[in-house]
Parts: sequence; C-alpha cells; structure tokens
Amino acid sequence: MIRYSCDLCKRDLDPEDDLRYVVKMEIYAAFDPAAVHDEDDDCDHLQEIQDILENLDDAEDDQIGADVYQRLRFDLCPECRKKFLKNPLGRQLSAPKAVGFSKN
Ligand SMILES: [Zn+2]
Repeated sequence: MIRYSCDLCKRDLDPEDDLRYVVKMEIYAAFDPAAVHDEDDDCDHLQEIQDILENLDDAEDDQIGADVYQRLRFDLCPECRKKFLKNPLGRQLSAPKAVGFSKN
C-alpha cells in the first residue's frame, strides 16, 4: 500500500482516516500571441519553446525544460490545504497583531 505524507507539515496521512488533497501547479513561460504575431523574427523563438515543450519527455537535459516549463505536485493534509489556499504564493503576510488601532 502506498503511504502518503503531507508535503507541508510532513505528517503521515492515513488513507482510512485522513483526506488527502493534491495540489498541481504548472509554471511556464508566457507569451502574448498578439505581440509575437507582428514580429516575424520572434516566431522562431516561439517555435523553439514549443519544441522544448513537446520534447520535454525526451529531453535529457532537464535544466533547459525547467526554465520554460515546470509541473509541480504536492500532497496536503486538510489543515495545510486551508493554509495553502489562504496564501498560495507564500507571500509575506502582515502580522495579525499589526491589525487594529494603538491604544496609546
Ligand atoms: Zn499538513
């Protein structure tokens, strides 16, 4: 039986008792099709990227593909899912204690 653990808090997830959430992320270099369209010189570059994407499975050098396209997958427990949804990008949030007026 495959055992899963939460990728955030590292606790083991019991398939019988714990809900497991899967987070999938795709990160890839974005191109504005309209901007590329007018400049023929850049078309080769776009084609190049597409070739990399198509050949990703065959590519031996993962570094080239990783700059252009990455797919990430995480397993989360219910608690960490909530945390993740509140702050998916891991931004620095202002401390809760800063909220409210000073009494001085
Ligand atoms: Zn967790």
